Amino acid sequence: MLNSKLPEVGTTIFTVMSSLAKKHNAINLSQGFPDFDCDPYLQQLAYQAMKQGHNQYPPMRGIDPLLEQIASKYSQLYQIDLDPGHEVTITAGAAEAIYSAITALVHVDDEVILLDPAYDLYKPAIILNGGKPVIYHLKAPHFIVDWNEVKSLITAKTRLIIINTPHNPIGRILKEEDLVALESLVQETDLYVISDEVYEHLTFDGYTHESILKYPGLYSRGFAVFSFGKTYHVTGWRVGYCIAPKELTKEFRKVHQFNVFTVPTPLQYALAAYMEDKTMYLQLPQFFEHKRNYLQNALESSRLKALKSEGSYFQLYDYSELSDKIDTEFVQDLTINHGVAAIPMSVFYTDPDPQIRLIRLCFGKTDATLAAAAERLCAL
Ligand code: GLN
Repeated sequence: MLNSKLPEVGTTIFTVMSSLAKKHNAINLSQGFPDFDCDPYLQQLAYQAMKQGHNQYPPMRGIDPLLEQIASKYSQLYQIDLDPGHEVTITAGAAEAIYSAITALVHVDDEVILLDPAYDLYKPAIILNGGKPVIYHLKAPHFIVDWNEVKSLITAKTRLIIINTPHNPIGRILKEEDLVALESLVQETDLYVISDEVYEHLTFDGYTHESILKYPGLYSRGFAVFSFGKTYHVTGWRVGYCIAPKELTKEFRKVHQFNVFTVPTPLQYALAAYMEDKTMYLQLPQFFEHKRNYLQNALESSRLKALKSEGSYFQLYDYSELSDKIDTEFVQDLTINHGVAAIPMSVFYTDPDPQIRLIRLCFGKTDATLAAAAERLCAL
């Protein structure tokens, strides 16, 4: 028998639930991806890049026009002066960026602080590198971070803290005061910061995204991770990027080059050309806020209770009026017998509270999909 490096890990819940949805022909509000297509112009740009012969390896860090577009985007957004050749790297989705950053940073026995619930990739990546996850438990329904409590988890072995804003699965946004608190907290330490910001443009109710790129004390020790999949509705393209200071990027690329080496050339050319229009992502907050409201209103008469979602394309719903089943069983039943697939909240916790009765619904779907799902959920 192979001596597993991840004995407690199974197949990721997103694959499990999407397969189950398919098998039972359920409406899939589980895995986070749009069920509508991306801009045809973006598709045309990818085809054009192939026709123009951009079909061989690109440079390891990514093609210059794309690196430059990214640097100019963030200089406009946050007045930060990035060196595209040394601070930006194109990655195989945000997942590769997070995995490579963790691998570049974490030595055996290093401790990494995670805020649970946490996206399911972080912990296995830490463990595969011999590190130890140290968990700060965020509690429903408010999920407030007490940074003094986080501080008390820091030891001589703490190497890294991972934050995620807007947050998957809870849909909350870290506010300016959170980033300021974290910035002052890390300043007295040798800690690094990975900031998973893949939902940077999916913010609602007038909240603004707080990137570590805006906070010099965080960026100087930070890896900020982004995703074209979320911003341009192309999750299957698997293109993301990591922004980090020159010295950190140097270490990051040592891992990236032997992990995936490069990311598909024609897609990079397509994205670089598409990014020339800086307005393409400006309508995203309204677009997804409408979808959040649409689903929430359609579920008004159901027995599901919405928790607050300030960002991302996820919202948590409390199903305790409907069932006393644990969430993993509840979502199975919901998918198989009622035709709607959801993600159970407990899978994002290391040590889940057995009383938890929350599911995550993805509202990044067409209004017709949301209406059809809501009709089934209201009938419960
Ligand atoms: N990030 C997406 C989600 O949370 C899924 C990505 C994946 O399936 N790996 O649903």
